[in-house]
Amino acid sequence: PIFTVADIRKTFLDFFESKGHTVVASSPLVPGNDPTLMFTNSGMVQFKDVFLGEDKRPYVRATSVQACLRAGGKHNDLENVGYTARHHTFFEMLGNWSFGDYFKRESLKWGWELLTQVFKLPADKLLATVYHEDDEAYDIWTKEIGLPPERVIRIGDNKGGKYKSDNFWMMADTGPCGPCSEIFYDHGPHIPGGPPGSPEEDGDRFIEIWNHVFMQFDMKEDGSVVKLPAPCVDTGMGLERLAAILQHVHSNYEIDLFDALIKAAARETGCTDLANPSLKVIADHIRATSFLVSDGVVPSNEGRGYVQRRIIRRAIRHGYKLGRKKPFFHKLVADLVALMGAAYPRLQAQAQHITDTLKAEEERFYETLANGMDILDTALAGGQKTLPGEVAFKLHDTYGFPLDLTQDVCRERDVTVDEAGFNAAMERQKAAGRAAGKFKMERAVEYAGAGNVFTGYEHLQEAAKVVALYHEGAAVQQLAQG
Ligand code: ATP
Ligand code: MG
Ligand code: MG
Ligand code: MG
Repeated sequence: PIFTVADIRKTFLDFFESKGHTVVASSPLVPGNDPTLMFTNSGMVQFKDVFLGEDKRPYVRATSVQACLRAGGKHNDLENVGYTARHHTFFEMLGNWSFGDYFKRESLKWGWELLTQVFKLPADKLLATVYHEDDEAYDIWTKEIGLPPERVIRIGDNKGGKYKSDNFWMMADTGPCGPCSEIFYDHGPHIPGGPPGSPEEDGDRFIEIWNHVFMQFDMKEDGSVVKLPAPCVDTGMGLERLAAILQHVHSNYEIDLFDALIKAAARETGCTDLANPSLKVIADHIRATSFLVSDGVVPSNEGRGYVQRRIIRRAIRHGYKLGRKKPFFHKLVADLVALMGAAYPRLQAQAQHITDTLKAEEERFYETLANGMDILDTALAGGQKTLPGEVAFKLHDTYGFPLDLTQDVCRERDVTVDEAGFNAAMERQKAAGRAAGKFKMERAVEYAGAGNVFTGYEHLQEAAKVVALYHEGAAVQQLAQG
C-alpha cells in the first residue's frame, strides 16, 4: 500500500502542524476525572474543559491522533463489530481543534485540501452532509469548495428518529455539543447501501470518514443548552476508514494493520478462512482489551472493569467457536505490540502485564465456558426463536456468561434473548439474597445477645460461630445491595 497507517498518522499531524496547530499526544482511554463518560470516545475528550472555558492551554489550535473506545455509554459499537465494514470498539481518531480561533470555513477548506490534494482522494467520490439549518456550511461546501449541490445533504438532529443520521454531535448526554458537517466516501455501487439520510444509509457503501463539529453549546442535565464562551471546532476522522480508502480496500478489516492481526488470530485459532467474522472480532478485541489494560482497566464485575471482562469473554467465545478449547487470546498481545508499540509506547512497556492479565481471565473463563455452551446448545436444540430469561440468567450467574455474550451467540442463530425474563430472574435472586442476609443477621444478633455472659469454653465456640454467621450475613447483604 502507498499509505500505511503509520504514514497516515504522520501525514495528518504534519499537515495540521503546517497550519499552525500544536501536536498533542493521545490521552488515556479512561478520561481523567469525568464521571459523565466511561471511556474516551473521541479526540475532543481531553479538551472538554477547554471548550467549556474552564481550562486554558498555551495554544488555540491543536491536532492529535487519539486512541478511542466505543463500548459502553452514548457511543457504543460493540454490537457492530463483526457485522459492519467500518466499526471497531478500539480505533484511532485523527483530529484538529480550534479553541475560539478559526471556525467553519477554515476547518472545511483544510479538510478538503488534505483529502484531495495531500491524500489525493478522488473528489467525485466524496459527499458532505450539513446540519439542516446550517446555510453557512452549505454555502461553504457548494460555493467556496465547489461540491455539486446534489452531493451536499442536509440532515436534521434526528429528533423524529426516522433514520440513524444525526448532524448534531454530542460527546455524551451532557457537555459540549454542536451542529456538524460530515464527509462521506462512496465505495461504489457494488456495495449495498445508500447515501446519508436515505433509508439504506446503514449499509457500507457510503462510509462516513470525517466529522467536523462546530462546537457552540454546553448541554445541561435538564436538556437545556448554554452557549460556549467562544465558538470552537472539533473534528474527528477514523484512521482505519481513511486507510481503507487509501489502500484501495473496502473494509477497515482489510487494511495493513488488521490484515496482520487477522492472520495472527488465524494462526492462534487454527482457522483457515481469513474472511471468518470471528477473526475480525478477535482482532478488534485484542486491541481494545490490551489498550484497556495498558490504561489500568483490569477485568472485574463492575463499571469499566466489567466492560473489559465482557470484551475479553466475547473474544474467547469466538475463539471457542473456531475450535480453541484452551487459552489462546493472550498470545496475540505480542503481535499487537509489534504492530502498534512504536506509536503507543505505553502498550510496549506493559506487554508482559497485558499478556498476564488476559491469560488469567482466559483461564478463569475456560473453566466454565464449555459447560455453559452445552447448556445454551441444549436450550436451543429444539429450534426455539427465544432463549428463556432464566437460562440466560443461569449462564450469567453460574457460568460467567455476560448477557451480551449470550446475546452474541443467539444473534448468530437468529434467536433473541428474553431480556425482561433475565432481569426478572436477576431481581428475584437479589431479593432472595437480601432475605437470606436479613435472616442470618437476625439470628446472629440473637446469638450475640445470649453470648454476652462468659459461661465457659462451649460458649466461646458458640461465639465464634456467631461471628462467622454475622459476617456471612453481612456479606450476603452487601452482595445483594452491590
Ligand atoms: P458511524 O455513523 O459510522 O457510526 P459516527 O457518526 O458514530 O460514525 P463520529 O462520532 O462522528 O462517528 O466520529 C468521528 C469519526 O470517527 C467518524 O467519522 C469515523 O470516521 C470514526 N469512527 C466513529 N466510530 C468508529 C468506530 N466504531 N470504528 C472506527 N471508526 C469510527
Ligand atoms: Mg456511530
Ligand atoms: Mg455517523
Ligand atoms: Mg458522525
